[in-house]
Amino acid sequence: MSKALFLDRDGIVNIDYGYVYKQEDFQFVEGIFELIMLFIQHDYHIFILTNQSGIGRGYYTLTDFNNLTTWMLKIFKEKKIHIEEVFYCPHLPRDYCDCRKPNTGMIKKCLNKHTIDLAHSWLIGDKQSDIDLAHNAHIASSIAIGDYEIKGATLHFDTLLSCKEYLEENQAIISF
Ligand SMILES: [Mg+2]
Ligand SMILES: [Zn+2]
Repeated sequence: MSKALFLDRDGIVNIDYGYVYKQEDFQFVEGIFELIMLFIQHDYHIFILTNQSGIGRGYYTLTDFNNLTTWMLKIFKEKKIHIEEVFYCPHLPRDYCDCRKPNTGMIKKCLNKHTIDLAHSWLIGDKQSDIDLAHNAHIASSIAIGDYEIKGATLHFDTLLSCKEYLEENQAIISF
């Protein structure tokens, strides 16, 4: 069984400008590569879980999303970061699907393909729905990023950079 780090995309991997689907609007968040590398050093497998209702809303197509994902994974690879898989929900809130976070469909799909020890896994997100997903899916630890109130996270930081610095400095006491 492997430990997993589940990352939200918009707001965690890239700056959330709202419905980002173009390469030129995709700006990596400061510290994201180093943060992921830290988890890789502690034997985590990396997954991305992203709500992409922009597809359902017709703001961009699945092809647009896939093209951006392919490019993003190429950049990660250049940084020696292997992302195991990217899971996405293309639906609208009113579709009441089971994959839109905080519903657990993407985690179920992930567990069907990968052997993961959720009791030693982490999730990092910037919305209440991310942290609620961690609870709903029984992912042991979660980190909320952002300067507004999010309930129920294990750790909370204003910025991803401060999160990275804290984890780096406290590697020995965090149960990686
Ligand atoms: Mg987000
Ligand atoms: Zn969905």
